[in-house]
Amino acid sequence: MLVTVSDFPGVLRVGDLEIAVTVSDRRKSVRLTVERDASVTAVVPPQVSRVELAQMVEAKRAWLYGKIAEKRDLGEPAPDKELVSGEGFLYLGRSYRLRVVDSGKVRLIHGRLELARGDGAKDLVDWYRRVGQPWLTRRIQPWVTRMGVELTGLRVRPLGYRWGSCSRDGQVNIHWATMQLPPSLIDYVLVHELAHLRRADHSAEFWQIVKRALPGHQDYRERLRRTGNDLWLPEEGR
Ligand SMILES: [Zn+2]
Repeated sequence: MLVTVSDFPGVLRVGDLEIAVTVSDRRKSVRLTVERDASVTAVVPPQVSRVELAQMVEAKRAWLYGKIAEKRDLGEPAPDKELVSGEGFLYLGRSYRLRVVDSGKVRLIHGRLELARGDGAKDLVDWYRRVGQPWLTRRIQPWVTRMGVELTGLRVRPLGYRWGSCSRDGQVNIHWATMQLPPSLIDYVLVHELAHLRRADHSAEFWQIVKRALPGHQDYRERLRRTGNDLWLPEEGR
């Protein structure tokens, strides 16, 4: 195969992966990125050939697939909301109108979400985290038992565009934005993360574990993908 310096820019196909490649004089090594929309891009130094890049992509295939699956979890965020009375916010799948009051902590009362004048998105995000912590800690317990995994802790926090993450020591992190979902979809997020305590990747074995705990998981996954687009995800909470 003829390899020249003019291999790129262009599109490189490796198996079912399609990689948009650009060239940068300033780069000394290849940078592979899975973008927010789950597309893959590469920035390469001028002398890198298609063959070399294809080998590199092959070597990182598992990592790339994992990243792509993650990015597809949480879709593009909905346009930002205005923090004014009447604006709707989701909590456990239901919409509640915001009521701006003179003072006090954020709270859900009489079917209204109260926010003090002068408070911002950060305060609302903190509220989701505060109510989410005990709610999710309780909700995950039956799944832990059912799936026979070892959970050492659950934390509610911002996680970028991912629903959840977990660490090898059995800690599960759940995005606070998850609290906007209906409970049935939250269950899917929890099961997904617990399954990762057994398998770190998104292999067939991983999906088997999910399926055993939650038959019909593909349906949940699809619904989650669609619902993910409607969620509020302000910069302050990413
Ligand atoms: Zn996953």
